[in-house]
Amino acid sequence: MSLKIYNTMSREKEEFVPRDAGKVAMYVCGPTVYNYIHIGNGRTYLSFDIIYRYLKYRGYDVKYVRNLTDVDDKIINKANEEGVPAEEIAERYSIAFNEDTEQLGLAKPTIVPKATEHVREMIEIIEGLIDKGLAYVVEGDVYFEVTKFADYGKLAHRSLEDMRAGERVEIDPRKHHPMDFALWKSAKPGEPSWDSPWGKGRPGWHIECTAMSLKYLGQGFDIHGGGRDLIFPHHENELAQTEGYTGKQFVRYWMHGGMVNIGEEKMAKSLGNIILVRDLLKEHSPNVLRLLALGTHYRSPIDFSPEKLREAESAYDRFLNARRRIAQALESPAVTRFPELVEEAGRLQRAIQETKSKFIESMDDDFNSAAALASLFELVREINMFIESNEQEMTMIAKDALSTADGMLTELAGVMGLNLMLPEETAGLEANLPAEIYDLAAEVLGLSLDNKAKSELLDELLVRRNEARKQKDWATADMIRNSLAGMGIEIEDTPLGSRWKLSRD
Ligand code: AMP
Ligand code: ZN
Repeated sequence: MSLKIYNTMSREKEEFVPRDAGKVAMYVCGPTVYNYIHIGNGRTYLSFDIIYRYLKYRGYDVKYVRNLTDVDDKIINKANEEGVPAEEIAERYSIAFNEDTEQLGLAKPTIVPKATEHVREMIEIIEGLIDKGLAYVVEGDVYFEVTKFADYGKLAHRSLEDMRAGERVEIDPRKHHPMDFALWKSAKPGEPSWDSPWGKGRPGWHIECTAMSLKYLGQGFDIHGGGRDLIFPHHENELAQTEGYTGKQFVRYWMHGGMVNIGEEKMAKSLGNIILVRDLLKEHSPNVLRLLALGTHYRSPIDFSPEKLREAESAYDRFLNARRRIAQALESPAVTRFPELVEEAGRLQRAIQETKSKFIESMDDDFNSAAALASLFELVREINMFIESNEQEMTMIAKDALSTADGMLTELAGVMGLNLMLPEETAGLEANLPAEIYDLAAEVLGLSLDNKAKSELLDELLVRRNEARKQKDWATADMIRNSLAGMGIEIEDTPLGSRWKLSRD
């Protein structure tokens, strides 16, 4: 069985063959930090979070880069509106983005580079493009000359003529062609700026992603993603600059997510129809938002409505109710029947295996999360039927099967980032964790800890240990493992990342 990915470039599902066997290099365009993210943005980041998690589940060693665009016209405009420095806006909304994505339960990318920390690399690439005759300088601005790049338009599948007709581009006498775009913009007084061979200025948006993706992932990396509104002009321009500069293929698979719409319109700040992720999360579990995303294929649009949200709520309840019924059934005393027949639980055991293979088959088919989710609900149905038919008496064999089904349900849900832990399980777990975790976290993470749960701190300690291991800082990594072991907490390293468990379990 092989993984297939729909490639915007070929407009076909293709078999996924990574650049380096067993490894995936993936770049997703991060936010321009000038406001809070809305659920449309949230959906796109969730889609790539699910893809990232699944690739890891499939055993790939994934390097996932998601940048922060912290210098841009939109940030400067917002700063001018508020009468504060642009840096303050960028800082405020970078922090907000981290809070929102953490609340949403997004796994942290491997690297989160900031555009402002890579301006030197951008200048280098722009100089290279000028040397190659692909860019030109006008009064301190630098433009990419689209007519010099023969393949311009190949990602969006549009020719320059189509674009001219389709877009209402302003005629700018300083440009050689109306579609030429800025690589470097001269700075006005008071704007953030950097010295460059063309005077003080700042980078254009597209060159930022070129510089950061090339730096961390190299040429011809595997997956480049974003919402489909980024195909043109952002990704088309990134592609033209990068391939123009390196002379090599930029990206192997281009992936684009569908939009969240309200009524007939795209959810967008400029249209005033947005719902913020942080507002929605005040009333709903992050699992509900994730279920809403999972229920539709990532490339299809979602027409957001209160009914959609209610459906996702009830899907979440269906999962939790099944897990609650399982817990109750497992608590009741087991009956002995003689002879105990393995066949009693045969149907459920088969359903468990079938669920797993259908799940993988669906996700392998261009990450069809809707079909994968349907297979989990199929298992929920089997579980409910099984409990109903065994209500009065459950043998050890039946209980084993039920417990395996429960394990499969939580495992596969976990692959998609869904947390099916029952509130009572979470509470019980917290109560069982030793208080020394607070001391270790304070020592290693140096955080203010009062408002965090011990289980949350444990997760952060594992992230810290993994970072230490990547940097070959074995002393810190071992210290964390040994200190936890001393408290009776064991670390398990799995393809999905590290997990902890109480060693007495
Ligand atoms: P932006 O801040 O506009 O660059 O958007 C950040 C990410 O959210 C990009 O990947 C966009 O494609 C995506 N995005 C923006 N609006 C929507 C929407 N209504 N639905 C889904 N994704 C969106
Ligand atoms: Zn980008």
